[in-house]
Amino acid sequence: TWELSNFGQHLCGGSGIGELMDDLGDALARGGDRICMLGGGQPSHIPAMDAIWKRRIQEMASTDGVLEQVLGDYEPPSGNLAFRQAVADLFSQQFGWPTTTDNIGVSAGGQTALFLLFNSLAGQMPDGRQKKILLPLVPEYIGYASQSVGGEMFCAVKPRIELTGDHEFKYRVDFDRLTVTDDVAAICVSRPTNPTGNVLTDDEISRLASLAEQHEIPLIIDNAYGAPFPGAIFTEATPIWNEHIILTLSLSKLGLPATRTGIVVARDEVIRSMSSMMSIVGLANTNIGQAITRPLIQSGEILKLSQEVIQPFYREKSLRTQQVVAEVFDDALPYRVHRSEGAFFLWMWFEGLPITSRELYQRLKARDVLVVPGSYFFFGVDESPWPHRDECIRVSFTMPDEVVADGLKIIAEEVARAYATA
Ligand code: PLP
Repeated sequence: TWELSNFGQHLCGGSGIGELMDDLGDALARGGDRICMLGGGQPSHIPAMDAIWKRRIQEMASTDGVLEQVLGDYEPPSGNLAFRQAVADLFSQQFGWPTTTDNIGVSAGGQTALFLLFNSLAGQMPDGRQKKILLPLVPEYIGYASQSVGGEMFCAVKPRIELTGDHEFKYRVDFDRLTVTDDVAAICVSRPTNPTGNVLTDDEISRLASLAEQHEIPLIIDNAYGAPFPGAIFTEATPIWNEHIILTLSLSKLGLPATRTGIVVARDEVIRSMSSMMSIVGLANTNIGQAITRPLIQSGEILKLSQEVIQPFYREKSLRTQQVVAEVFDDALPYRVHRSEGAFFLWMWFEGLPITSRELYQRLKARDVLVVPGSYFFFGVDESPWPHRDECIRVSFTMPDEVVADGLKIIAEEVARAYATA
């Protein structure tokens, strides 16, 4: 084998997110057989949304020159200008933000946007310092964990855990433990949060935004599931953006993950950096997602779809899944589910579980149920003993109801068995 550079050492050796995407791809490729794929971030196939994508492709194909241009032209690395204009207008009309095309950039998916943002802000600095991305609350999105190309990049704060009811809980940012030291390059949160379905409150977000502004660093808000689109958010939460905030969005959770389209909303210097990085790494972006959605964004139809189709679809799916949990889990077991406020997952906590979440994952995989072991989501925290980090799993509820229910029955059995044989 050939020798690997530092970059190669960081990126070539596999990762949690890589394993997860392999599992997801394999399970989807195997199609109708018995696998219960409750592991990935795959959005549901919502018939009304799939019909719109079909309609748009047909419209493009039947208008002379349109599909030819979409498939056949390189566009600027910052994205299609009319698309960026449509997004900027939507935000200024909808939220009153002072966004222009200079504040909107396109990337090859949100994942790539975050990779480029993190590595351009943090990691090894020219003067040798090592700068960090501060995660004010873990568990946080597994997809960030291996993104550094320059050494340890994340520092994270454990949450306050609020117990609500017999079988529910919610994480809160522990502001008493949160300090922004000189080596912090940016603060980052996903909202709604993957893996927990938590939605940081307006108060938490505004405190984080002031902290960031005070320290002259950006607050990165990863809005992959949030408002105004796709709108997989079940609580009241005010979208926020200003010059001190970098907001990332994506077309994936609308139902277009294969178009690989991310959107960055930020001050113009950040958009110029993104454009520079995109051109160096990948020349240009994919056009198809921008072309499919542009008229929906221009007309505002995207808002209606998000509020009237996507949001109720996932809200109801979450509620039905919680109902199944209540039915299949023995009430006497100390199980808890994070309050489901958005995104596509239930985050389950089994306090005092005698086996690790990885062992539970293996036992479930042996029974053809795929979940994600919770330990993956607790990166950037010190290694001191903290049982909680090994007592959780993430269960996606985007698959058909019967698949989710079958999977949960098996999860309940394996969890009960693990407690019983302790
Ligand atoms: N951020 C969060 C919180 C996610 O859950 C995901 C995907 O699951 C992404 C970003 C990246 O999505 P994409 O690269 O498909 O836009």
